[in-house]
Amino acid sequence: MIHVKKAFVIGHPIKHSRSPLIHGTWLAEHAIEGSYEAIDVAPEELPAFVGRLRDGEFAGGNVTIPHKEAVFALCDEVDPLAQRIGAANTLVRQPDGCIRGFNTDYMGFLGNLDQNAPGWDAGLGEVIVLGAGGAARAIVVALEERFAGVIHVLNRTREKAEAFNALSDRVIPGSIDEFGPLAPFARLVVNTTSIGMHGTKFDNLPLDRLTADCTVTDIVYTPLITPLLADAKALGLTTVDGLGMLLHQAVPGFEAWFGVRPEVTPALRAKIEATL
Ligand code: NAP
Repeated sequence: MIHVKKAFVIGHPIKHSRSPLIHGTWLAEHAIEGSYEAIDVAPEELPAFVGRLRDGEFAGGNVTIPHKEAVFALCDEVDPLAQRIGAANTLVRQPDGCIRGFNTDYMGFLGNLDQNAPGWDAGLGEVIVLGAGGAARAIVVALEERFAGVIHVLNRTREKAEAFNALSDRVIPGSIDEFGPLAPFARLVVNTTSIGMHGTKFDNLPLDRLTADCTVTDIVYTPLITPLLADAKALGLTTVDGLGMLLHQAVPGFEAWFGVRPEVTPALRAKIEATL
């Protein structure tokens, strides 16, 4: 009997996920007899679905909105980094049936910048992170790993930025209107808010106060060139879009489920870009 390894992405809703196309491309490229499917799982169905994983129906899968936090309680083991971030986006079934939860968003963030702005982290001093949601937590942990000196977390709701003090002692919380005075000292600006989706824009973000050695990256990738990236590009700054983060976060999961480390190639990127 041929044993076909199966993986999934679960979310609610899930039909717009690009993950099946990413993993499907890698399965074909490596001639792996396996599958990766998007499955809509409502919050009340999550425990039963994880039970199916535990029973061996799948090798593992990805978890997206709204399950990234709730799935924690259903894992048997949680990777220390995922524990610290407070969310898991990748589940791997161990040979003994235990479910291990990981967070690969932080690897996706680093892999994207390493590939598309090599040297971005050399002597990384001050960084501005816009937003204080789940993705921002993964990114602050990643930035700490690359020795960011000070991480200014600026958020619409200031109290949520203040909660980041418990995550990292490098964080200085603030509100988005504090961007201007901080901008001249920043080597990197990361947008982790949902502003940019469908062309929405920040009000009064004085990008012209950034200096020429600053890189601007957005984790929103619909559209690929958000208004923030377009404005930064027009000022001659280095910019990195968010699609690479999505592609790179998929690498560790594929390797864990199917046993091959896949590559993020220009051809894969072009294929996904064509669907945006
Ligand atoms: P989240 O936990 O819901 O956080 C949303 C953040 O956006 C909060 O900081 C929120 O501020 C802010 N925000 C929302 N609307 C705003 C507005 N009108 N003005 C100012 N701030 C606003 O979401 P998340 O999981 O961190 O994801 C954030 C974005 O990143 C989403 O668009 C998601 O699709 C994208 N993402 C991309 C990748 C990738 O692979 N490229 C990975 C993960 C996430 P408040 O606290 O004030 O509400």
